[in-house]
Amino acid sequence: IRHVTHAYKTPAGPLPVLNDLSLAIPTGAFCAVVGPSGCGKSTLTRLIAGLMKPDRGEVFLHGEPVRGPRSTVGMAFQNPVLLEWRSILDNVILPLEIVAPRMARRDREARARELLALVGLEGFEAKRPSELSGGMRQRASLCRAIVHKPEVLILDEPFGALDAFTREDLWQTMHALRREEPFTTLLITHDLRESIFLADEVIVLSGRPATAQYRMDVPGGTGRTLDDL
Ligand code: ATP
Ligand code: MG
Repeated sequence: IRHVTHAYKTPAGPLPVLNDLSLAIPTGAFCAVVGPSGCGKSTLTRLIAGLMKPDRGEVFLHGEPVRGPRSTVGMAFQNPVLLEWRSILDNVILPLEIVAPRMARRDREARARELLALVGLEGFEAKRPSELSGGMRQRASLCRAIVHKPEVLILDEPFGALDAFTREDLWQTMHALRREEPFTTLLITHDLRESIFLADEVIVLSGRPATAQYRMDVPGGTGRTLDDL
């Protein structure tokens, strides 16, 4: 991300959110971005995913400028948006139907089932989203975000709405997923413990509009345990 400046157009005039922000996220790294509410974290994720264009500056993915939305970015949010008329399995398969339309149904299913088993949802494949708890829905939405093996996984407060026990349980699930599928991951969070448990590097956005940031390396990788916090 090079010299990105962005303001939203509002009826009251432009609202500057990011000001000359530059960051580099190494391929394969798990980076957490923390910062106060409203500092522009979700804005940053939309710019990286190509859902929005910055007013100034550029976003690159593997050296290529990001010009629009792309399937090589997977996303999950605080409130998982699962389709109620589809089973959990068919929700997870959805990105494959779009990205790999020629992939055989049984191969898609096998891939989705493998991920669901990895996050502890074996046996829930045929259920509808409303039949699952919030934590289980979030697990399913994580599977959907990575089922097509995106190059970059963006998680915007994915555990924010969960109780402390479920959240810590999902942190362990993230470690397990990461051991199997080492994506470049950008995790947005308010929770410093979460960032230190999960990320190799924590980036702090500060200033309004956000401009400065400092970085902190966290050793330990997926070998960290809750006792380390
Ligand atoms: P939170 O931690 O609460 O999720 P955030 O760091 O993700 O906050 P953003 O959602 O990026 O913050 O919002 C940054 C600022 O931009 C806020 O002041 C917000 O009100 C404003 N904003 C966000 N989206 C829009 C929009 N679509 N139109 C106008 N203003 C917006
Ligand atoms: Mg946000």
